[in-house]
Amino acid sequence: MGAQKYGKIGGLEFAAVRVKCASMTDVSTLFDAAVIGGGPAGLAAAISLAQTGARTALVARRAPYADNRTTALLGASVDLLESLDVWPRCQDKAAALEVMRLVDDTGRLFRAPEVRFSCHEIALDAFGYNIDNRSLMLALEERAAELPGLVRFDDEAENIVVGADDVAIRTASAQFLSARLVVGADGRHSLCREAAGIEVTRRELAQTALTFNLGHARPHRNVSTEFHTPHGPCVFVPLPGDRSSVVWVSAPAEAERLAGLSDEDLSAAIEKQSHSILGRMNVAPGRHLFPLAIERPKSFARDRIALVGEAAHVIPPIGAQGLNLGLRDAADIARLAGDAIAAGQDPGADDVLKRYDRARRPDILSRTFAIDIANRSLLNDFLPLQPVRAVGMHLLGAIGPLRRFAMREGLTPTWRR
Ligand SMILES: Cc1cc2nc3c(=O)[nH]c(=O)nc-3n(C[C@H](O)[C@H](O)[C@H](O)COP(=O)(O)OP(=O)(O)OC[C@H]3O[C@@H](n4cnc5c(N)ncnc54)[C@H](O)[C@@H]3O)c2cc1C
Repeated sequence: MGAQKYGKIGGLEFAAVRVKCASMTDVSTLFDAAVIGGGPAGLAAAISLAQTGARTALVARRAPYADNRTTALLGASVDLLESLDVWPRCQDKAAALEVMRLVDDTGRLFRAPEVRFSCHEIALDAFGYNIDNRSLMLALEERAAELPGLVRFDDEAENIVVGADDVAIRTASAQFLSARLVVGADGRHSLCREAAGIEVTRRELAQTALTFNLGHARPHRNVSTEFHTPHGPCVFVPLPGDRSSVVWVSAPAEAERLAGLSDEDLSAAIEKQSHSILGRMNVAPGRHLFPLAIERPKSFARDRIALVGEAAHVIPPIGAQGLNLGLRDAADIARLAGDAIAAGQDPGADDVLKRYDRARRPDILSRTFAIDIANRSLLNDFLPLQPVRAVGMHLLGAIGPLRRFAMREGLTPTWRR
């Protein structure tokens, strides 16, 4: 069996052994890459890695997706999901996004004019597609289960120890595996990030997002509308049919109050907030609350561990950027690790991780900064930013080339085109 020792964890000797995996095939547990966490970013990373030919482990509990969030997948994210053979499995559950309206609903002195972005102005059929996360996750899970090079551990990582040549992982049910590269897709309280000793700065925002879906009397015509209120955005994003998903950001106590309303009262409250642009509204069952925060790790990769998704960035839900960034993380680590393996090199080597950090840093930091500023400019505590915001929105509305640049940049950063 030739077990290799890695040290001791909590008095347990930590070693790579051979185990029967989910497929009941006897395989070695030394992988090229192990992805920890099976949210949308982790599943996309695992599929991308396995498709490059990397022997990949996915350590993630199989569980039904727990909330009713939807994701506005922008251009390149849809291309990635196409290349992973995921998009054809769920595209019928998605609605096209052709127009994005930003409406200043702050009622303040320095009110910005409405800005309307149309995909046709930059010769596209759609900016992207809005899909409920449950359908997206089902499609990702289905594709992941098909790939022979992807071994699933239906489990949680409990201990992660970085060694000189690989990383050893012990799961909650005492399975052991090791990998030359670990992809930390384990969300906000990332054990992988902790194992790599990567510090994170975290700022809690005094804002909570309430999410729910609804039906409405008038068609949305594939227009997404973002009302900017003094407490944060309230966003209506098209779903198939005469339905939309709503992300309503407000002060935490107000979000709790709204979440506790009867269906009838919440329907009336959201219709009022929408200025009845979609006519009469009826909320569907299911409401979820998300306290908002901004998290930024000092590094995106270190000691054989690369971070993707919310382990690498937490931002408020403005401009639909979070998972779009997470999918770019997944694509980048898979490309860099795949290239290293193809060249006979170690996918977890320092130079691969440095390249990953360099590739992700400008994208993640620039978007975190822009979204932080956009969010702050709405709040009462940041009055000096409001005239600046109003002027910025006016310029976007009035200057075609600037507006088109903003649209292209919102979809894909310049350096990736
Ligand atoms: C209200 C709201 C609306 C949003 N709208 C959009 C949008 O329109 N467009 C967009 O791009 N983004 C959007 N986002 C952001 C997007 O939802 C997140 O970026 C995305 O869900 C994060 O996915 P993830 O896979 O990184 O993390 P998660 O979904 O949190 O997945 C992490 C997974 O890791 C697992 N895990 C944790 N620890 C371990 C362990 N030790 N071992 C094994 N597994 C572990 C967890 O159980 C979980 O399943 C929105 C966010 C919010 C809050």
